[in-house]
Amino acid sequence: MRKIICSLCILILIILNLGQAQPFRAGAALRIITPDPLLPVSGGVGIPHPTTEQKGDLFVRTLVLEKGKIRVAIVAMDNLGFPAVLGDRVRKLVSGIPPENILIGATHTHSAPDAYGFMDEKGNTGVDLNYLDWCIQQMAEAINEAAGNLQPAVLKIAVGNARGKIAYNYYAEQLYDPRCGVIQAIATSGANKGKPLATLVNYAIHPEVIGSEQGILSPDLCGPLYDRIEAKTGGMAIFMSSAQGGMVTADNRQPDGKEARTWEECVRIGELLADEALRIIDKAESQENPNLYCAHRDIKFPVTSKLMQFILKNSALKYEVDENFNVPTRLNLVNIGTAQVLTIPGEALPNIGYYLKRNLKTHHPFLFGLTNDAFGYILTNVDFDSFDRYEYITRTSLGEQIGEIYIEEALKLIEGNPAADGF
Ligand SMILES: [Zn+2]
Repeated sequence: MRKIICSLCILILIILNLGQAQPFRAGAALRIITPDPLLPVSGGVGIPHPTTEQKGDLFVRTLVLEKGKIRVAIVAMDNLGFPAVLGDRVRKLVSGIPPENILIGATHTHSAPDAYGFMDEKGNTGVDLNYLDWCIQQMAEAINEAAGNLQPAVLKIAVGNARGKIAYNYYAEQLYDPRCGVIQAIATSGANKGKPLATLVNYAIHPEVIGSEQGILSPDLCGPLYDRIEAKTGGMAIFMSSAQGGMVTADNRQPDGKEARTWEECVRIGELLADEALRIIDKAESQENPNLYCAHRDIKFPVTSKLMQFILKNSALKYEVDENFNVPTRLNLVNIGTAQVLTIPGEALPNIGYYLKRNLKTHHPFLFGLTNDAFGYILTNVDFDSFDRYEYITRTSLGEQIGEIYIEEALKLIEGNPAADGF
């Protein structure tokens, strides 16, 4: 009998040890991707604008999370958008993380080189394919390094309103989502024990204070946000955009009615958002050994906009489009402790953002905008071609049904998968 009990004890101890041998782990790494010499910058459709100076560096920033056999990489790039045709080349260079678990987002700075391969009617393009090759290499290296850096960690997660003059809706002042989601991974052992390894900030804003027409290459307000968080926490900062379409932008309005379009204004807004994110996360309880779960859904969008058909067909990047102009893309749903993250392959309008956050199975909803693809504006069919104000976002959307399709597919993805911790 005693022998049996001992064997049982040993078995239980082994099981317990196995549990402890698979703690939640996090790793972070970054690369500078500022082009040398400087390159023209793109703020939207068309040929990029030449630059003569630089304010801050452009980055690729990656956070890799692991629980047991599940690994997820969250990647942010300082660019207007980073399409899957480039992202898939990165995914091929990463080892140890399934390609469908690598979420690649763009911060949407309007002062970085063209990553869409825009072509005009005459076949002119300002894209630098060598630069993009180098970015792909840097991004893959950063992800692999972050996976190599994995160390036991706990999480702090919070969502709260960012206060102060940060964002507003340029089309209708108050129609924006002030919620800022924050995920912080804190080391539980080693030299960094008790310190944040990484702080992820999720917020809807257009980093276009400087824009593309001042001859300046810049991460815009994201640069000062990274610097501030890193100075205060010692860990890496990463910014993931949210539902910032039509037209949630930086609040750089001045009392005289003009906009401040300076680096100083980027510093003011970036530091304020960083301080707010750290205030929001400050009192959050630590989540020990949180769950990690990653699902995806491959979908197709029918492209009916003539402008978008032209861009997809003529881009120097050679997008995957069939004869009926259907483009493939991928949605991800990720549970990270109490947070649930849904990706948006473009710029969803804030009303879509509110609706989907309300439908996520979590008390801590996160939306990663411009992630896995960056297919322009995503608006509902009733918003499409409605107000005069929506003329631009209608023209730069794939088509009338894109919002409906995206919402329907996103709801199916949410419905078919488990809830976040604590929901
Ligand atoms: Zn935009």
